[in-house]
Amino acid sequence: AKEVGRNTYEFYEAELNQIAIRRHQLANEMRQAIKNEELSLVFQPQLNIQENKVIGAEVLLRWHHPILGHISPGEFIPIAENTGLIREIGSWVLDNACKKIAECREIGHEIRLAVNLSALQFRQSNLPESIAATLEKYRIPPKLLEVEITESMLMRDVSQAIDILERLKEMQIRIAIDDFGTGYSSLSYLRRLPLDALKIDRSFIDEVVVDADDTAITLAIISMAKSLRLEVIAEGVETEQQQEFLIDNNCDDIQGYYFSRPLAFEDFKAFLEKRSQQ
Ligand code: C2E
Ligand code: CA
Ligand code: CA
Ligand code: CA
Repeated sequence: AKEVGRNTYEFYEAELNQIAIRRHQLANEMRQAIKNEELSLVFQPQLNIQENKVIGAEVLLRWHHPILGHISPGEFIPIAENTGLIREIGSWVLDNACKKIAECREIGHEIRLAVNLSALQFRQSNLPESIAATLEKYRIPPKLLEVEITESMLMRDVSQAIDILERLKEMQIRIAIDDFGTGYSSLSYLRRLPLDALKIDRSFIDEVVVDADDTAITLAIISMAKSLRLEVIAEGVETEQQQEFLIDNNCDDIQGYYFSRPLAFEDFKAFLEKRSQQ
């Protein structure tokens, strides 16, 4: 038994080493990723289900490494956050997203794009100014840009968070709380924040039509959002039944594989064109 224990330990140690080595490799090579044009954006359409109208898309980052292939943002964003490189990557994403908003407008589609902010980016003191400069650069109305932040980013330092949000709100940028329901935000804080939308986390939507707890949580979030006069969007909608449930229960918008996968920009434009001809 001792032998087995030792082997198991060595196995885990080897595995941990592998993870550490890969993390280190990714951290190093990420520096080149922007320059080498290995990063790209995809766009996942969002649908207003009460009016059956496309309202915009969430912008999602992709990294295609020349040797390692596709690396998921779930893996590389936390690393970028640790090394601080997320600042540079984050402003690249913002700049490109604004450019795409402008390109959509040029072909007659006034749609909104939602960009994920990382914790580090959110607390960068010049964030509002740098967003303002980017909006200016591409001459786009601020209401076409939405930022998604998580509850944990708000709760770390509530008064600082309120200050940042108020500066963003003054500029008329839209603010959404991502992964809503998974964090610990207290309802009294929510009321004090200048928010526009809550995004119900995918984990509640997954079984919303079969699990009584998830049904209850989803209904509670929708009703709370309504009473706070916030828009509410459900993410991770994968089936017709989930969509029907959300329509029947007054959710405003949905996003998920059932309506559309995240799309490359050319495909996203084609998607908008096709929808507008229907
Ligand atoms: P998120 O913000 O919660 O993004 C939604 C994730 O759910 C995306 O994964 C999306 O592809 C996936 N998804 C969308 N619809 C469905 C569905 O119907 N079913 C399922 N199972 N999944 C669905 P993705 O693209 O792998 O991104 C993972 C996370 O990485 C994001 O979670 C976000 O936290 C982070 N991320 C992505 N892009 C950026 C970025 O530009 N900046 C920052 N800071 N974080 C980003
Ligand atoms: Ca998001
Ligand atoms: Ca989310
Ligand atoms: Ca459950």
